[in-house]
Amino acid sequence: MTYDVHIIGGGLAGSEAAWQLARRGISVRLSEMRGSGEMTPAHQTDGLAELVCSNSFRSDDDENNAVGLLHHEMRQMDSLVMRAGEVARVPAGSAMAVDRDVFSAEVQKTLIEHPKVDIVRERVDQLPGAGLTIVATGPLTAQSLAENIVTATGEERLAFFDAIAPIVHRDSIDMDIAWIQSRWNKRTEASNEEGDYINCPMTQEQYLAFHRGLIEGDKTEFKDWEKDTPYFDGCMPIEVMAARGVDTLRFGPMKPVGLDNPNDVTEEFPQGRWPYAVVQLRQDNKLGTLWNMVGFQTKLKYGAQVELFRTIPGLEKAEFARLGGLHRNTFLNSPSVLDRQLRLKSAPHVRFAGQVTGCEGYVESAAVGLIAGMMASSELTGRDWSPPPASTAIGALLSHITGDAAADTFQPMNVNFGLFPPLHEVKKKQRKQAYTSRAKSDLRAWLAASETVAA
Ligand SMILES: Cc1cc2nc3c(=O)[nH]c(=O)nc-3n(C[C@H](O)[C@H](O)[C@H](O)COP(=O)(O)OP(=O)(O)OC[C@H]3O[C@@H](n4cnc5c(N)ncnc54)[C@H](O)[C@@H]3O)c2cc1C
Repeated sequence: MTYDVHIIGGGLAGSEAAWQLARRGISVRLSEMRGSGEMTPAHQTDGLAELVCSNSFRSDDDENNAVGLLHHEMRQMDSLVMRAGEVARVPAGSAMAVDRDVFSAEVQKTLIEHPKVDIVRERVDQLPGAGLTIVATGPLTAQSLAENIVTATGEERLAFFDAIAPIVHRDSIDMDIAWIQSRWNKRTEASNEEGDYINCPMTQEQYLAFHRGLIEGDKTEFKDWEKDTPYFDGCMPIEVMAARGVDTLRFGPMKPVGLDNPNDVTEEFPQGRWPYAVVQLRQDNKLGTLWNMVGFQTKLKYGAQVELFRTIPGLEKAEFARLGGLHRNTFLNSPSVLDRQLRLKSAPHVRFAGQVTGCEGYVESAAVGLIAGMMASSELTGRDWSPPPASTAIGALLSHITGDAAADTFQPMNVNFGLFPPLHEVKKKQRKQAYTSRAKSDLRAWLAASETVAA
């Protein structure tokens, strides 16, 4: 069968992209390596859109939760993943959970029965040299293709681990304790006027207790299949560094020199004394709503992270947009290598979708597949296409991965309200509902304008 678009990878993103193209009358070759004798280390079956771990699509609350809002938006855009999710739904309170076998079977049946979709069980080892392509091979992209992607993008642009430092919502940091300053007040052209880091000061006593907490805290273990993947010194978990010596962190990421604490002023130090140790946060998105804890990638369990990091002065009430982690995960440095339409800048016939773009989660991966399908469809039919506004969940996620995130600290991201243009004028308690109601109305307007209303 000849085809208009070649999709590589039949997971959440690839299946959704195939559906979005097929329902617009565009023919697709969907190459999936499982079923050809190949397997990833996490998948168990040959089924399309297999959920590799939990069976939950997380919150379905579209008024107070960003992922619930994303569900809503995907339903408006006739998402196959959301449709199949409804068929496979099992009770889970306000969350949306599914029977994974029923879900995968429903996605697969829909695509097999669609005359515009040709599912081919094959492993693809090279990016096609021509023809519209969507690569949706996920966090466990087969090695041969990953190597070819490295050749196309450059070695620094494809990561094999996400070494995630926790990311904190700016408005949950206590700025009566923390302060903004760059070390030695150094500036670059891109610097903010006040300085580029939020600094949280620690006394010796607080530092020693914190150091003990890192060493003694509950950690997650690498899975067997993750142990062999090399990771670099730059990804070293903070607790591993802490175990090298009590002062290692004070000479590393928690170094206090050149940072004058304005809340600790003496006659001798009228500009403020240097603390004993410091935790620094650096801006993580253009909006300035998210800040990441520099050097704090960790394998501490989530509960232990929240408990320990809230002992840091200034972060007592921290709300985390995401917690730290270290996992096997193949993903691109999308803000630097992809354009705003998910196309590889060096080979624009190739688009990427799903977790390999640096979004994270079943729903987010499917959403990026959905939007990649829409983009490819517009490109083929020669229609102008503008992305959904950043005030929608799908638009916020897309903006983040295609340029709004800081490229040098880019790590996979779930959808969350910190990605949305802020509504500072709305009281904090009412903000979530304000975000969701603005998003719904903006999505409606965008859908009407782009004539992509659900069939
Ligand atoms: C171990 C693990 C657990 C996870 N748990 C969760 C969770 O509980 N909840 C959650 O929301 N998210 C979870 N994720 C994150 C993520 O959302 C899922 O991995 C999600 O499946 C990503 O969707 P995707 O379509 O991008 O990739 P996938 O669903 O992995 O699909 C990629 C597909 O591409 C195929 N493929 C790979 N290379 C090739 C090739 N060269 N040629 C042809 N086919 C190829 C693979 O076989 C696979 O079917 C987890 C990830 C991992 C690795």
